[in-house]
Amino acid sequence: MIGISVVLRTRSWIVLCLGMLTVGAPAAFAADCPGHPDALGTSRTLVVDPREHPLIGTMQYRETLPLKDHEVVLTFDDGPLPKYSNQVLQILADECIKATFFIIGSQAKANPEGVRKLVAAGHTVGTHSMDHPLTFDRMPIDKAEAEINGGIAWTSAAMTDPSQLAPFFRIPGLMRAEGVENYLISRGIQVWSADFPADDWRHVSSDRVYQLAIQRLEAKGKGILLLHDIQARTVAALPKIIRDLKARGYRIVHVVPATAERPATPTTTVEWLLHPPTETTPIARWPRVPNFVFTQTRALPAPALADLNALAEHQPLLPLRTMAQANVAATLPAPGRALFAIPEGSVEVLLSTTLSRRAATRLAMAAEATRAAKDKAAHAKAAKGKAAKLQGRRTAHAAAAPDHVEQPKGTTAKGTTATGTAPKGPASRSATTRPTRVASLKKRA
Ligand SMILES: [Zn+2]
Repeated sequence: MIGISVVLRTRSWIVLCLGMLTVGAPAAFAADCPGHPDALGTSRTLVVDPREHPLIGTMQYRETLPLKDHEVVLTFDDGPLPKYSNQVLQILADECIKATFFIIGSQAKANPEGVRKLVAAGHTVGTHSMDHPLTFDRMPIDKAEAEINGGIAWTSAAMTDPSQLAPFFRIPGLMRAEGVENYLISRGIQVWSADFPADDWRHVSSDRVYQLAIQRLEAKGKGILLLHDIQARTVAALPKIIRDLKARGYRIVHVVPATAERPATPTTTVEWLLHPPTETTPIARWPRVPNFVFTQTRALPAPALADLNALAEHQPLLPLRTMAQANVAATLPAPGRALFAIPEGSVEVLLSTTLSRRAATRLAMAAEATRAAKDKAAHAKAAKGKAAKLQGRRTAHAAAAPDHVEQPKGTTAKGTTATGTAPKGPASRSATTRPTRVASLKKRA
């Protein structure tokens, strides 16, 4: 008895563990698909309100269906065409997958039974215009409206219960136009683009269709796959796509429109974005406008960090005034007046590089004259006291040295010299120099 109970307990643990492993995995839905234990199944039904999110599909719009990671919505356009549409229906039935079909009015007119089969199988049925013109982006709006309404009229006419028609529309060739979108929105019809196609309308192999479907899905991680149920290559590729979806852990979501009895699945706005922003995504946050009080006070209050709408982790984005910077600013010494004084002689150098030679010379002479006047004032007393003694020396010196006599070539008629240090002699000095100059001029002539 003990041995048996241990075995039973062990088995129940194994069953429990297996059950936990398969929670959320596709195998969990196999039970809903009698006779097909390996079916992918449909993981959940998403109810959407077209008026709240009228444009979906990241191939063209900002928003897409609020899918979780690894969730996929299958869509099929351009049917029903019995030869291929019936095969697609059978493949989906074997996998217990619910999809969305966008019907062409002329196809529904030619094959109303095909529309009824879709509804009976529990798929969602929307429309795709009357005759599938690839000119929705440039046709007159009244013609576009006629195309839209013709498709709706013939598809709903094919149904036993016209209320089964979903207010979902896909523009042929995804040739979107604002006028067309506005018209559809005004009628409460949701415009379905897609998140990725598999190029199954092009002349490619079914293998290529399978590869593109999986590669593009893997690139986005979830989304709306656009296929066509009127192509042999799609019929051939579909089983492989479904097998691979299951192997990679993808789940199928069935989308239906909200009604009075069936409210929309609660979602948040960011869930309608393919990649909602996360806490790790850096976002520039604009500062909030502080509440300034202009009438009561002359001094505006310094904004607090909270006014800048910054979270703690975003603080490096803001230029912060540190205490070290504040201290440096407070203790910087005031520069002394001597710092701005121009050193002696640098005026001439400065001017000679910036002015013409004549202007520089003129300014330099003026500066020299100013200095000379200063020196003269400073030595005035001393010079006065020794005037008689100096006069005696200079007279003797002038007579002994002819070089000195030649020097005053640049002197003016009044006898002022360029050298400021030598004080101007009294009247007797000019009396001694003048005869010398005259003599030298006579000698040259
Ligand atoms: Zn189409």
